[in-house]
Amino acid sequence: MWELTFPRTVVIGEGALEYLKEVEGKRVLIVTDKVIHKLDFVEKVSNYLKEAGLEVKVFDEVEPEPSMETVVKGAEFAKKCSPDWLIGLGGGSCMDAAKAIWVLYENPDITVDGINPLEKLGLRKKARLICIPTTSGTGSDATWATVITDVKEERKLELSSREIVADIIILDPEFPKSMPPRLVADTGLDALTHAIEGYVSQWSNDFSDGLAIKAIQMIFKYLPRAYRNPEDKEAKEKMHNAATIAGISFGNSQAGIAHAMGHSLGAIFHVPHGRTVDLFLAQSIEYSAREAMEKYADVARAIGIEAKTDEEAVEKLIEAVRRLDRELGEPASIKELGISREDFEKRLDDLVTRAANSSCTFMNPRVPDVDDTRKLFIYAYEGKKVNF
Ligand SMILES: [Zn+2]
Repeated sequence: MWELTFPRTVVIGEGALEYLKEVEGKRVLIVTDKVIHKLDFVEKVSNYLKEAGLEVKVFDEVEPEPSMETVVKGAEFAKKCSPDWLIGLGGGSCMDAAKAIWVLYENPDITVDGINPLEKLGLRKKARLICIPTTSGTGSDATWATVITDVKEERKLELSSREIVADIIILDPEFPKSMPPRLVADTGLDALTHAIEGYVSQWSNDFSDGLAIKAIQMIFKYLPRAYRNPEDKEAKEKMHNAATIAGISFGNSQAGIAHAMGHSLGAIFHVPHGRTVDLFLAQSIEYSAREAMEKYADVARAIGIEAKTDEEAVEKLIEAVRRLDRELGEPASIKELGISREDFEKRLDDLVTRAANSSCTFMNPRVPDVDDTRKLFIYAYEGKKVNF
């Protein structure tokens, strides 16, 4: 038996934001960050909500890779204003924070690290959740997971509960229009990593597979266009949809070692999420191919790669991922991220421990032991291949 969880309503296409005019309630709390607040995004969202007769409150203190402290602060704010809707407006950080704030708002006795699939949260007694992504990649709007940083322990808490999936997702192509190319690349490659890792995961299933393949095809087709030409509305809209499709897919499967290693690197060296996970994508395919050859070959063929054998298809897939990275100007190694060898070596044990304990590691098609995890990091430092 396998239970799948989907967001209840997904609104797509031009004018999607107008859906907010139909929202019924008294008060809404928008959870966002200062950058989004400065743009006119909050205003646009608020105007529709006001038209619907709702009072709007804003918590704009979410930082990139949100911390437990911010979640607690946001929950205190929510308790004071008693919203019946929460809106996560922004990138993955804002939506992840909104989910965790919602849990603590409804359950004052639960701590952030107490969010897990076995805990009965009893959400939706006080409020429901709308997610409005403004970037195209994290898929946080579509998953029942939230990643919160424990700053003191320098680790990312990979928290999940089937209850925290959004009631409504709004994918308005207006938002990604203003994304700069660097952000388009970083977030788009995060979505690609979700789709590929989700497709080969030990938890993959017929539903997640179909969505993953569609997302992968869309990303290979539209991401280079969205990156090269900020005015390409079609490519940006397709990427916005693809990110959520990938989110629904890996949300019902599981990410793999690229995410385990990316979370570890991001928590210690504070590198944006998309860039860290993508850094490990090609080598995670190389490492895992032995156990998931056929599935990686499916991915290769789905994007038009021709090959006589599965092995050849997978080799060409790895090359296609590397080519895409180069085309989008992504760093090819940890070193290229500007992390010195000395700093890397000093923290290598911590990097390995965190990745080895990540929930994403265990559902990877090939589960690396601590030694292999260390080798994978060393490989990623300079991009010099090692034998596993
Ligand atoms: Zn991700």
